[in-house]
Formats: sequence, C-alpha cells, structure tokens
Amino acid sequence: MRAVTYQGVRRVSVEEVPKPVLQSSTDAIVRVTLSAVCGSDLHVFHGRIRGMEPGDIVGHEYVGTVEQLGDDVKVMTPGSRVLGSFFTACGHCWACRRGFFTQCIHSQLFGFGSRFGNLSGAQAQWVRVPYADQTLRTLPDSITDEQGILIEDILSTAYFATQRANIIAGDTVAVIGAGPVGLLAIQTAYVFGASLVFALDLVPQRLEQAQQIGAQPVLVNGKEVAAIHDLTDGRGADVVIEAVGSGASLDLASRVARPFATVSAAGVFTESSLPLPMGRVFAKDLTLRSGMANVLSAFEPVMALVKNGRLKPEMVISHRMPLEASEEAYRIFDRREAMKIILLAE
Ligand SMILES: [Zn+2]
Ligand SMILES: [Zn+2]
Repeated sequence: MRAVTYQGVRRVSVEEVPKPVLQSSTDAIVRVTLSAVCGSDLHVFHGRIRGMEPGDIVGHEYVGTVEQLGDDVKVMTPGSRVLGSFFTACGHCWACRRGFFTQCIHSQLFGFGSRFGNLSGAQAQWVRVPYADQTLRTLPDSITDEQGILIEDILSTAYFATQRANIIAGDTVAVIGAGPVGLLAIQTAYVFGASLVFALDLVPQRLEQAQQIGAQPVLVNGKEVAAIHDLTDGRGADVVIEAVGSGASLDLASRVARPFATVSAAGVFTESSLPLPMGRVFAKDLTLRSGMANVLSAFEPVMALVKNGRLKPEMVISHRMPLEASEEAYRIFDRREAMKIILLAE
C-alpha cells in the first residue's frame, strides 16, 4: 500500500509499504478514505518527536471503512463508515473507566513513533486500529467524511478546550491563534454561550476568516493587549482559549485575561518546560488548564452539534490533495500557506 513516511527533519515521502494485518483480537483494519495534515504532525516533521525513525508512517487523522475485524470486536461491523480517535484506549483500565481516555495504560498514538506506543500512522491507504470498539465511532449518514475527519481531532480538541474554559453565557472570549483549531474554538465558544469572541493572530488573512464566522479580529502587533482592554471596559477577556501551543502565546493569554479568568490551552506543548508568567497568574488569580484533548469523551456531543448544523467545521479546509502529493502538502502546511489539508487516499 502507499503511505506517508517520516524520513528525517523536514522530510516525508510517499512509499510502498506492507499493508497492515490484524495483530490482536480487538484490532480493526480500516481502509482509509481521507486523512489530514495536522499542526501536531509538524512536531514530527520538524524532528521534535523522539523515537520517530526514518520509514515510520505518519499521521493520526483519518476516516474510512472497516474492512476487517478481530474476533473480540463486538460493536464495530465490517463495512461501517468510521472515524477514529488519534489515540487508542482499551475501555477497561482504571483511567478508561473514569473517562480519562488519554491516560489509558494501553494508550498508543497513531504516527508518533516508539515513544508514544509505536503505532503506525494513518496517512496511508489502510491503518490498523487497536481496541477498535473504543477507538472508532460509526459515522451517521448525516455527517460527511470531511466533517468526520475534522471531528476526529481538531474540532473535538477545540470543544474539549472550550468546555474546560468554563464559559458562562454572556462572557467575552479571546481565542489566541486563528489557525484551524482557533477558528473551530471560535465556533465552539459561541455554542457555549460567548457574547463576543476576539480572535488574535499575527496573520491578517487568518483574521479575515475569523471575522467571517463572527469573531472580532485583533492583530497581534504589539498593541493587542491594549486593544482587548479597550474592547472590554479595561478588564480583559472573561475567558481565554490558547490555540497555538507556545510560551509566547501563554504569556499573551495571561495578559489579555481579566482577573479570575480561566485560560484554557488547546495547543500542543512539546517542550518539557517553558517560562510561565506565574507572578501575573498569581496576581490576577487566573486558572490555567492544559492537557492532551480527551477527544473520545467529546465525539458524541460534537457529532450531535455538527449533525444539527450548530458547528460547521468544513470552513477550515483549504486544500484537498491526493495522498501521493503529501510531500508538497507538508511543505505548504509548514510555510502556513494552507489552513487545513485533506489527503485523499485514492
Ligand atoms: Zn491532529
Ligand atoms: Zn484503558
């Protein structure tokens, strides 16, 4: 089969590799219809993920059709159209029974190498999915493949971070970063009851897109903190959602937050440590939340919101490219010339 493989820093290539086979009685083999390039794939692309070896298949966002199932899979059925979580969960351990699926003792991440469970990625024609009954969800006819692949990670990540931001109806919300997750966080913030969402970004074109979905754009140009204070009677935003994953954006989040605000980070942090403005967090009595998105707990409400038209994630898709063009897809995504790239497996 064809698959996108990591070849070293800033190098991926599409290679012929063996088709995956069932390895456990709880596995599924899924024929991938669509995969997608994600901001967290860039951590792999930039060589920041220890344990990624040349030849490892990358990617963790996928929808497809169940082709083959192990004998102990009870819920999934062959031929079903499915989306899958970017991590696996067994459904039986203490963490899974508490709903803390990201902390499953058997958890593996698709396409992040040996440090994260050594599970092959999904930017491929087929993918092996462990614990299929827990990791996969059947897609209803009313949700398209393109909606499904966005639900699978970035929309559920936005929902998860927004839910943990504790928005009260009428709150003002500042979203730092108007990339794909940030744009979807604008949508989810309105669903959770925001009266107004400010979008902060360095890139004017991204702010235009944020404005189209009802956000008030604020260009990050050194005057953004004053701008937010002007727009909020001098207080700052009631809630801040950080959708970048850097120390600089956490610092900005703490500046634009009003006292007693919650700052909820949707961004992926790969640094083991970074400077935090703890003096400001203390003085303003801020609550800071961060964590790998527990998307398995978000799929049901997010699918209901998409099915009923309350969330429209497709607006973030900027490119649809064949899997064979993945090298170019990574290049333009890395240069921020694309918002969200969907890869067509055939
Ligand atoms: Zn992703
Ligand atoms: Zn578990």
